[in-house]
Amino acid sequence: MKIRPGRTEHVIIFGTKGYLYQLAILTLVCGQCGNPAAHTLRKRITKFTLFFVPLFPISTKYLTQCTFCGAEQKVTKEQAEQLQTQSTNGPSGQAYGQPQQHDRF
Ligand SMILES: [Zn+2]
Repeated sequence: MKIRPGRTEHVIIFGTKGYLYQLAILTLVCGQCGNPAAHTLRKRITKFTLFFVPLFPISTKYLTQCTFCGAEQKVTKEQAEQLQTQSTNGPSGQAYGQPQQHDRF
């Protein structure tokens, strides 16, 4: 194996970049503080970057955050979609095994 003098160095800069999307605001009973408080539903996408250029997502996480105590809770994609449907349809939508939701206005 020959080693050429003055070899070129290939530096590959890669990393990840996070994106946060707010999907909805829901009124849920917090599992942490027990208050029926507004919760933000967020989607966090982590993308693989090469030379600071985002290429493809490597992970997508959904989470809710209590606006009362700030507790974050991870939810699955299915749960997030269901919560989003609830927030647009309102509590008068179809009842199919919904998690506890108390609207107090
Ligand atoms: Zn809370």
